[in-house]
Amino acid sequence: MKILIADDDPISLRMLSKLVQGLGHDPVCFENGIRAYRHLREGSVRIAVLDWMMPGMTGPEICNRLRSENPSRILYIIIVTAMEGADEVSRALEKGASDYVTKPFERSELKARIGVGVRTVSLEMQLEELNRRLARLARTDSLTGLLNHAAILGELREQLESAGTGNPPTSVLMFDLDRFKKINDSFGHQAGDKILVRLAEALLRACRENDSVGRYGGEEFLMILPRTGSEEALEMGDRIRLGIQEMDHGDLDEELTTTVSVGVATSKSSSPASENLVSRADSALYKAKQDGRNLVRLDGGG
Ligand code: GH3
Ligand code: MG
Ligand code: MG
Repeated sequence: MKILIADDDPISLRMLSKLVQGLGHDPVCFENGIRAYRHLREGSVRIAVLDWMMPGMTGPEICNRLRSENPSRILYIIIVTAMEGADEVSRALEKGASDYVTKPFERSELKARIGVGVRTVSLEMQLEELNRRLARLARTDSLTGLLNHAAILGELREQLESAGTGNPPTSVLMFDLDRFKKINDSFGHQAGDKILVRLAEALLRACRENDSVGRYGGEEFLMILPRTGSEEALEMGDRIRLGIQEMDHGDLDEELTTTVSVGVATSKSSSPASENLVSRADSALYKAKQDGRNLVRLDGGG
């Protein structure tokens, strides 16, 4: 792990550097407070050993600046100083230091304190990574890997908000597999699951750069087409519908074919409500089902 060391005394700096190397870490050395601060601010260093007194900026000043600029950043800072009053200790900790060592210090003690820092930072980084994974998982449909119901609706809300009113329209496509219950009944639920995964892959492939798609419900999928008017959305829906009709599921069963019905709705510039757009696409989908399935229908409301 990289460990930043800042001390204006070259002899101390060399000694600290050797100590860090001896622990199997990679020292990054500075003799000047401001340069150390800049490196910590920009870089990926997570552990720092800072002298209190330094030209430019003191150790506690560096702590203070870094903590106020980014309170949630993972950074373990040990302050080293000749000042050993209880006031100084608490002042350094209040400024954001994680730990404190007074000069002259036992090498074994500083080594142990750096070890605590490495352990703490490693755990915090693991936690950060787990949180990232959890956040991704919370947005993902486990069967298809697409965005789930809440996530795709969130995308739509954001898209409509950023598009604003009076700007290029947003269209949505609602897909629903035709007679899917019968597919499950005839070919088994596992075959049904595979169909859902293949459909998800096909929809994802059909997406252009800024489009997004999610699993809205059991066998319903919602696709968002930013900057797309109804004519283009209808064309796209029909192209996807045809592609799905052509899909080969012969490996599951020779008799197995699938089709989808598609409902299309396009935002009216005056009404950016996402619920409204989805329910309009749903009504159009209902029409496609009523008219015989394997069809694309546009919502009449806009
Ligand atoms: P329609 O053409 O009117 O849409 O008919 P349908 O049979 O597709 O519609 P219905 O809503 O009656 O049935 C949907 C079926 O989708 C019922 C349910 O068992 C199936 N389904 C929902 N989620 C899953 C899933 O995760 N896996 C599988 N295999 N089937 C699912
Ligand atoms: Mg359905
Ligand atoms: Mg269906």
